[in-house]
Amino acid sequence: MGKALIRAGMLIDGSGKTAVENGAVLIEADRILAVGRSGEIGPVSGAKEVNYADGTILPGLIDCHNHLSMNLTQEDWLSRVNDSDAEKTIAAVINMAADLESGVTTARCLGEKNFLDIACKKATQSGLLSGPRLLVAGKSIRSTHGHGILAYVFDGPDQVRRGVRENVKAGADVIKILTTATVRGSDEIHSDYTREEIFAAVEEAHRAGLRVAAHCIGGVALQWCVEVGVDSIEHGYFMSEDEIELLAKSESWLVLTPSAFLMEERLKVTPSAETFRKKRDQAAQCMAAAIKGGVRFAVGSDAIHGCLAKEMEFLVSLGASEMQAIVAATYNGAALCGLDKSVGTLESGKIADMIVVQGNPLDDIRALQRVIAVVCRGRFTEIRSTRDKMIP
Ligand SMILES: [Zn+2]
Repeated sequence: MGKALIRAGMLIDGSGKTAVENGAVLIEADRILAVGRSGEIGPVSGAKEVNYADGTILPGLIDCHNHLSMNLTQEDWLSRVNDSDAEKTIAAVINMAADLESGVTTARCLGEKNFLDIACKKATQSGLLSGPRLLVAGKSIRSTHGHGILAYVFDGPDQVRRGVRENVKAGADVIKILTTATVRGSDEIHSDYTREEIFAAVEEAHRAGLRVAAHCIGGVALQWCVEVGVDSIEHGYFMSEDEIELLAKSESWLVLTPSAFLMEERLKVTPSAETFRKKRDQAAQCMAAAIKGGVRFAVGSDAIHGCLAKEMEFLVSLGASEMQAIVAATYNGAALCGLDKSVGTLESGKIADMIVVQGNPLDDIRALQRVIAVVCRGRFTEIRSTRDKMIP
């Protein structure tokens, strides 16, 4: 592959720095060679050139919480959890393509059946399938009485350790543990694991060089997760003020997944929609308080494919600035995944993962729903269909 020069009316590099008017990125093969003002870069002899005068260049988006084979806006999503592996794989292939087309160039898959995600990772890595760069969790870990329709049961610290080791051996990149339910049922949020079990997961994973993501909406489980060094809290829908403060002061990240409560298309097909609706305001207030309270956050779609931009729109409705929402889905996502040396911002030397959207997302975050080009590992794809059609 030769050189390519991509120009646009605006460039946002993902670091949180002020946007550059008339920006350009020069790439060669799968690397970024230069980033800056259009006038300072090029023309470059021999480089293929494209110019999107009314577009904005950004880093490829990072979806920190995804499940490849599940699609939570599908009417029969719950029964499809019991589909055969073959059917699930077909769904995963379709979903990965939709994610990539929507600008997601990296996705962290937090749990699948039968290591399907590890097979998908290999296939996308080798170029056999089209899809984002994947970080995968393999078998997510839950207790007998705990939550998690895709997860596997491991009870007691020893079994939890075995669960981690099985995943490490199979080629997982990250460990997922489920510590609470998703919706708050009573005043108290019960932890489905003991502190010792959560500690066992973290200690075992960290010793193998893997990070730990914990499904946790709040309560004592959140305190324990933070204390034992869980790397990311997933969802965090019902954290108290004290818990938000604890998280903000810690090294742990929060992955916000607003759509479970806020996306009508999803609630329509959720069996317990009424419970979600009843708790919607409380969850929204908590997410807003976490954003305001200085918690370091990234963003995840949680198995709604092609819709990460919609989650970013929700972040803005919850009080994040447009730039904060963009950084959540770019630099923060990369840092949380441990990939910030190679992706997440537009910098020379990094991998050529970027998107071009129609308009300026700093004026209207929904511009991210109008992706017109995706570059993943230097591979350029122009998106012809309008994204508006696909996002509810
Ligand atoms: Zn999930």
